[in-house]
Formats: sequence, C-alpha cells, structure tokens
Amino acid sequence: MPSRSFDAVVVGAGIVGAACAEELARCGLSVAICESAIVGGGATAAGMGHLTVMDDSEEQFALTRYSQLLWRNLSNELPPDAEFLPCGTVWIAADAEEMAEVHRKYEFYAARGVCAEVLDSRQLVEAEPNLRAGLAGGLLVAGDSVCYPPCVAHYLIAKAVQHGALLFQPARVTEIIVSGVRLTDGSLIESKIVVLATGAAARELIPDLPIRPRQGHLLITDRYPALVRHQLIELGYLKSAHAVDSDSVAFNIQPRATGQLLIGSSRQFASDDIGVEPSMLTQMLQRAAEYIPRLPQLSAIRAWTGHRAATPDKLPLIGPCVNRPNVYLATGHEGLGISTSLATARLLADQILDRKPEIPIKPYLPQRSFVHYA
Ligand SMILES: Cc1cc2nc3c(=O)[nH]c(=O)nc-3n(C[C@H](O)[C@H](O)[C@H](O)COP(=O)(O)OP(=O)(O)OC[C@H]3O[C@@H](n4cnc5c(N)ncnc54)[C@H](O)[C@@H]3O)c2cc1C
Repeated sequence: MPSRSFDAVVVGAGIVGAACAEELARCGLSVAICESAIVGGGATAAGMGHLTVMDDSEEQFALTRYSQLLWRNLSNELPPDAEFLPCGTVWIAADAEEMAEVHRKYEFYAARGVCAEVLDSRQLVEAEPNLRAGLAGGLLVAGDSVCYPPCVAHYLIAKAVQHGALLFQPARVTEIIVSGVRLTDGSLIESKIVVLATGAAARELIPDLPIRPRQGHLLITDRYPALVRHQLIELGYLKSAHAVDSDSVAFNIQPRATGQLLIGSSRQFASDDIGVEPSMLTQMLQRAAEYIPRLPQLSAIRAWTGHRAATPDKLPLIGPCVNRPNVYLATGHEGLGISTSLATARLLADQILDRKPEIPIKPYLPQRSFVHYA
C-alpha cells in the first residue's frame, strides 16, 4: 500500500493539474494526483490546443507570453503524439474596421517584443490560398503553435510520476478537508496542501468560486493536408468572444499534424448539457464556410463539446483560496487553459515554495475578487 500522506495533493489531471503536479514533484515535493476519470479527458481533450499570445489585457498578455516561452522549452522534449506544430496564427480581417484592429494588435505586440507581420489582401491569399477572395488582410503571429493537449497532459503526468508523484485514478475527491481530501469510498489522502485543478467542475468542491462553465463546440475533419497552413481566426472572434452573456460563433480553424482540420468554435453559457446542439454546430460551420468556401465539401469525422471555466474578469485563479489556507486554486482559464497551463504551474509553485515569480502574480490571485458570484 503506497503512503497516503503527501506534501501536496493535486485534484484533477487535466493539462493544468498535470503541469502543477509535474512542477511540484520536480521541485522535490511529495505529490499525489487524484483524477476521477481519465488523464487529460476533460476540457483538455475537448479544447483546440492553440498555444497563443493574447492581448485582451496586460495581465492576459503577461501570462500567455510567459507561458509561451515555457512551451517553447517543453516542445524540445515532447513526444510525437503531442503533435506540437509551430504553425503560427493568422488573425483575419474581413473589412477595414477589422484591418484597423490588425494594426492596433500589431502595435501592441511590437511594443512588447512579439514578432508579428501585417498582411495585406494579396499577402493573405499567398499565405492561405483557400481563404475566400476579398478579405482585407491579416496579422501573422509566427511564434504561436498548436499541440494535442491530452497527450501533453499524459506526458506531464508521466514526468511527475518519474519525480515520485503517485497517481490515484479513478479517484474522485468528494470533500476537501483541513488535513487533505476525502475520496468517494470515504478514504482519506492526507496532505498539507490541496491544489484544486478541476477546471469547470471547481464549484463542485468549493461552491462559492467565481467560475461558470462556458460551453464550446468543435468538429474535426478527415485528412486534408495543407488546405490550411496556420491557425486561422477571424478578428470578429474577439467581438463575439467578448459578448459575455450571449451565445456566439466565430471562425477558428486549426491544421493538425495528422493533416486533419479542427474547426471551431462556439461560446454559450447556461448549457449544462454536454451534447452537440445541431443548430449551434450548423451556425459554426456556416460561419467557417464564409471564410473557406471549400469547407462544405470536406468529410467530418466527429463533433463534440467541452466546458471552459470562465471567471468574470477573464483571468484565471492561481493561488491560495480565500478563507481556505490549505487550498490552492489553479482554475478559471476559460479558453486559454492549454496556452497558460505551464505558466500557471510555475506561478502556483512559486507561491507554495516561496520563490520569486518571473511575472507579477497579483492579477491572478483568487483574493482579488468575487466571493459572492451567482
Ligand atoms: C471548445 C474549446 C476550445 C478550446 N480551445 C483552446 C485553445 O485553443 N487553447 C487554449 O489554451 N485553451 C483552449 N480551451 C480551454 C482549455 O481546453 C481549458 O482551459 C483547459 O483544458 C483547462 O484544463 P484543466 O486542467 O483546468 O481542466 P480539465 O481539462 O477539465 O481537467 C479537470 C480534470 O479534473 C477532473 N476532476 C473533476 N472533478 C474531480 C474530482 N472531484 N475529483 C478528481 N478529479 C476531478 C476531471 O475528470 C478532469 O480530468 C478550449 C476549451 C474548449 C471547451
């Protein structure tokens, strides 16, 4: 029987929990990981795996930028099934208004050392010949990448285990107590620290957290190598992704290392149902076909949904839980949890190990906010 007393127990083995477990175990803590279902099987399996630098706010930029540097290092050791592909992103402007956003975004990135290139209408067609004619242009951000997140989660868990961590699976945590966590069978795993990394399910264990599930649809096609070369996102995505309370779809397509195309995406609150909604899927694909006219001729393999863990200010919760000093939160990453998983793990470990963080931690501390959140 393995020891059931640890320095830290990480609840949830999605990409965030996996990254936290790996970081803590590598730094010498004794770590247990409790996963109720499958490693990387939650939002991590449902997500797109776009590793991107974002500019919604300075805080979001700092976290995504820091994480991208960590991804760059990790990519050198990832196995082939992680499908790390440094394809870059092209943000697509349909009209003059969105072209103005291209220039704003370019200035923002340039001022902060991120390489980006403005594409005019002709250069956009050269970069992506299967886009419809007549688009205004785009912004190429060459440093962005994509990966296959569930395999990265497996890789990080395997590394954590190499560093001495123990994976309990299937092991559903039903209660967090001062001395650790309780599992479904009533047994206890003792631990000084509990890291809550259960994504959109975080409120099942701590009901007053400011987290709401935000559903998204995705669809994957058969293999069409080189039909799309970069991660392509319409700049209208920013408008719709920010429409906080209404349902929205936006064109977002990703070339996979397998030659398949991953097509997204939608955003909906208030849907607990995990089934695919045909009307939402149809809207999403119609939107995508407006950008890639050949799309309706492609064969689809599978469509699915997943839940993003959304916070009111679009920043994750990384650090000690208000009023529960033994609990550290690592959740609330909404649509950026793959991108920011590695930075989350570093910043969490910095707090637990009392190290100086590389970027200011304050914007992500759970204490900043919203204990009362409907
Ligand atoms: C449609 C869609 C597209 C997305 N695209 C992107 C993208 O392109 N780039 C990006 O960066 N992010 C993207 N995201 C967001 C990203 O997928 C998530 O932010 C990220 O996967 C969150 O990881 P996580 O480890 O926090 O949560 P999860 O992957 O959900 O992991 C939580 C784990 O906790 C386990 N668990 C839950 N409750 C318990 C319990 N009580 N006891 C034990 N275990 C428990 C679950 O089984 C699960 O394995 C997308 C999300 C969606 C839905």
